[in-house]
Amino acid sequence: MTGKHAQPEVNIGLVGHVDHGKTTLVQALSGEWTDQHSEEMKRGISIRLGYADATFRQCPGLDEPERYTVDETCPDGSESEPLRTVSFVDAPGHETLMATMLSGAAIMDGAVLVVSATDPVPQAQTEEHLMALDIIGIENIVIAQNKIDLVDREQAERNYEEIQEFVEGTVAEDAPVVPISAQQEVNIDLLIQAVEEEIPTPERDPDADPRMHVARSFDINRPGTTWDGLMGGVLGGSLVEGKLTEGDELELRPGREVEEGGQTRWESVETDVRSLQAGGDMVDEVTPGGLLGVGTGLDPSLTKGDALAGQVAGTPGTLPPTWNKFTMEVDLLERLVGLDDQDIDDISTGEPLMLTIGTATTVGSVTSAREGECEVTLKRPVCAPEGAQIAINRRIGARWRLIGVGTLRE
Ligand code: GDP
Ligand code: MG
Repeated sequence: MTGKHAQPEVNIGLVGHVDHGKTTLVQALSGEWTDQHSEEMKRGISIRLGYADATFRQCPGLDEPERYTVDETCPDGSESEPLRTVSFVDAPGHETLMATMLSGAAIMDGAVLVVSATDPVPQAQTEEHLMALDIIGIENIVIAQNKIDLVDREQAERNYEEIQEFVEGTVAEDAPVVPISAQQEVNIDLLIQAVEEEIPTPERDPDADPRMHVARSFDINRPGTTWDGLMGGVLGGSLVEGKLTEGDELELRPGREVEEGGQTRWESVETDVRSLQAGGDMVDEVTPGGLLGVGTGLDPSLTKGDALAGQVAGTPGTLPPTWNKFTMEVDLLERLVGLDDQDIDDISTGEPLMLTIGTATTVGSVTSAREGECEVTLKRPVCAPEGAQIAINRRIGARWRLIGVGTLRE
């Protein structure tokens, strides 16, 4: 059976303020609604990263931008040609969910920043998400100026100017700004063209050891399934290097917590790849790009409820170390995002920090702080290479706020 899409080759984050139209845009491009989970439906926000694949196509008989489409049929009735399949990571815009946004950023090759033309620029999360892209080093950005169906020409132009002014001096300075209506499907062709031009598929080494960032993990069995019908745990995430094939051995780090003589420690777990899903299809092999599902031989109780989210998977013996504590070089922001008048105090010994490293988010306690450097002990360990980038958040008032970026050192 063939599915709707080829395996996606690039991951594109949808970021921006809540209600500015990220999920609606993903739906216009992919035909899928990414707010899949019942609680998200109830709350009407994307509380977890939602994934959806879209195949960009072209009608060779037409000029740019009209030739770009996601429809299989061209206006003249002929069949459109596929260009490439992309995977959208629909990040939440709700203000307390910056950590989820940052962990999604670790697997994004580029981003579409959605900015509604109906609001003053920037709204809080527009600014915060742009800052996150800057920190994680995502430079291939397209700005979608959405909801142009709700504003008149003058307002659209003023908003356009505001966007240009806002991105000046940031990583998105040269990003094209494409006016669209995600809901009315206006200028979707222009947006596809901009993404094709600005967010190329990264070059990858096919011989590298496979490395997967786990963003989600599941138990797909119905309650009450008997042991002989039980399916192994499933991992969801992104392969960032190498390739994975059915039957491959797999190690996961940090793995699981084990108790021994009243002490707990973390021990990596090993399993094998039982099935692979990419682009909505079961496949024998996956390469980087897109979000994949890996069926494993793991006990599903280990994977249920995202228990392994944030972990790293790869060939046994090839993964980076697991850290219970580390030193990080610290680069603090000049001021709090969205609160221009608030300076950021130095990190002090004893304070708790929320750290995002790859797709892992963990709370650490500062055991010693010096100028430009601090030592943290983690509540949950992380698997990461030395030199990894860390987003540092501090609790201010009722929420965690991004205060700076760290680099992991031994
Ligand atoms: P998200 O929070 O960024 O994912 O925003 P949603 O995609 O959930 O959209 C929020 C609301 O804005 C929904 O009611 C959408 O129907 C509406 N919306 C999104 N895009 C457009 C648009 O281009 N025009 C209009 N009129 N409404 C839109
Ligand atoms: Mg949404």
